Amino acid sequence: MIEISQFEGITRFKMGTELDGEVFYWCSAYQVDELLIDSGCAHTAKELLEALEGRGIKMVVNTHHHEDHIGANALLAEKLGVELFAPGAALQRIAKQPELFPHQELLWGRAQRSLPHALGEEISTSGHRLQVIPMPGHSDDLVVFWEPKQRWAFVSDLWLLRHPKTCRNFENNLQALTSLQRLKAMRPRVMFTGLGDIEENAVEALVETIDWLEQCRDRAVGLAEGGMAPGEIVQEMFGRESAHYEMTQGQFSYEHFVRSFLKGP
Ligand SMILES: [Zn+2]
Repeated sequence: MIEISQFEGITRFKMGTELDGEVFYWCSAYQVDELLIDSGCAHTAKELLEALEGRGIKMVVNTHHHEDHIGANALLAEKLGVELFAPGAALQRIAKQPELFPHQELLWGRAQRSLPHALGEEISTSGHRLQVIPMPGHSDDLVVFWEPKQRWAFVSDLWLLRHPKTCRNFENNLQALTSLQRLKAMRPRVMFTGLGDIEENAVEALVETIDWLEQCRDRAVGLAEGGMAPGEIVQEMFGRESAHYEMTQGQFSYEHFVRSFLKGP
């Protein structure tokens, strides 16, 4: 499924795999002039290609290497002749086809291999200059695209919701906190997220998330210092495991969220 909408001259493509008529997890792509930021997942690649017909896309940039952001790279390069760009640290991973967990196959599918060029410090379109700012945490290669005149931040999966509690084992919430503080200091007006949400109260949202993550960090570290194991800390802080635990083969869990505060920056 694909939903297309406009916001301040940006076209948002919100995409997802329907399971029993519902989208369980959205992905997104945003068109800024002739540039497309991210390309969604493999399952929606053909739909995105059709939706982009006649829209004048010349470049596709990826925010990080995850399969729900690079899924249409190869198809768009082949059919539309777009140039691909991605963060330097993501290139080797995008060029491979990593093994996926069953939930990843189900929700997103395996991205066809593609060979983007390395992003520089800035990327320009006919109407905008976007700065490329490394903001690790969700993944070690994630970059935010920052348009300083409009104060737009294309934040990808760095910020998805105000009170995150779930993450995967590769995520580093201490790094994410540093990145979110850096982003807040830039006073963004609007955040465009990896799930396709557009947050217009960007600074307020960031303040709330930073406060929340700091509280969780302090609580988790305090309980660990008191001798509790991560599983016990989850019970103490949240009373249960994440509702997504079973469906994602234990990948999306509160325990990974807690552990990420304990393993150091
Ligand atoms: Zn991601």
